[in-house]
Amino acid sequence: MKLNSKKSNFNIFLAHDHMRNKDDILRDIKSGVSGKILHLELDGWIDAPSKEIYKKTYNSSHGFYERYLKSLSKLELLLKEKKDSIVLIRGKSDFNNAKKNNKFSLILGNEGGKIVGENLENLEILYKRGLRHIQLNWAMKNFLSASQEEEGKYSDTGLSKIGEKLIFEMNSKGMIIDVSHSSPISIKNVLKITKKPIINSHSGSRVLSNKPQNLYDSQIKDLADNNGLLALHFCSRLVLGVNDKQSNIPDIIKHVEYIRNLAGIDILALGPDWILGDESRDKNYLINTNQQNITWTKDLEDSSKINNIIDPLEKAGFKSIEIEKLLGENFTRFINDVM
Ligand SMILES: [Zn+2]
Repeated sequence: MKLNSKKSNFNIFLAHDHMRNKDDILRDIKSGVSGKILHLELDGWIDAPSKEIYKKTYNSSHGFYERYLKSLSKLELLLKEKKDSIVLIRGKSDFNNAKKNNKFSLILGNEGGKIVGENLENLEILYKRGLRHIQLNWAMKNFLSASQEEEGKYSDTGLSKIGEKLIFEMNSKGMIIDVSHSSPISIKNVLKITKKPIINSHSGSRVLSNKPQNLYDSQIKDLADNNGLLALHFCSRLVLGVNDKQSNIPDIIKHVEYIRNLAGIDILALGPDWILGDESRDKNYLINTNQQNITWTKDLEDSSKINNIIDPLEKAGFKSIEIEKLLGENFTRFINDVM
């Protein structure tokens, strides 16, 4: 397969990415990525100094807001330094202007709701500093909602009262609600009360790959009825449904085809979830979370390779308009609906 790593004419937006350092975002820009939701931290202290501390903080929400502020202060320095090329998106006009003027749209988000505090007291402060996205859960249940861990168990209590309040607040503030990693009941509860489209930022088809993070057909249809987005994960085990094999681009395209045939192309986006390559984070992350064997799809290991997905999509018979929607125009529509 001949791979095309040159910049394309498509707008490319990423709905789930953890790469937060200067070199990462400069690489995004150089590769033709137009913007992304930056999941600045997670609901687990993945780079905690020891596995013991990681485990101890796993089911607590203590310290997550403070760590977020620390990372945010670092990011703000970068935004100040690169203000001519990177825009922190506060509303849809920022997004549309950045797109028009070829600037990088950075949407500030988080993989998990522990940062807002158990009474939502921190939401206002974080919103003022630019937070526009929250993924309710990471791997574990929190005070907002049950996670995928609870699927099929009595502990799947869905969305809590605080969670409901958060959905209401996020709807009225024009923030992006992300249900990736949430339990089936939590997702159902959110869809019932949200007044705006929602996103599942890094997932795939459960029929093709039986991992709890992926969605059943009925869930994909529910999300399509909401005008929401399903952004596709590039991590091998989520793409393939097995742990020790590396996926290839055609394996991702199988998810694109399956989901398009089930619910239409308008639901699809990209959510690669890149996290490796940050030296200060990698070492502890891999040990703390037991992920030594984790791989990303071959030829899509970081944003410098994002254009490699285009030729194989064309060869698989996707029309230019479909590729345009998958890569960025569905995301654009979504931002304009939500913000
Ligand atoms: Zn995740």
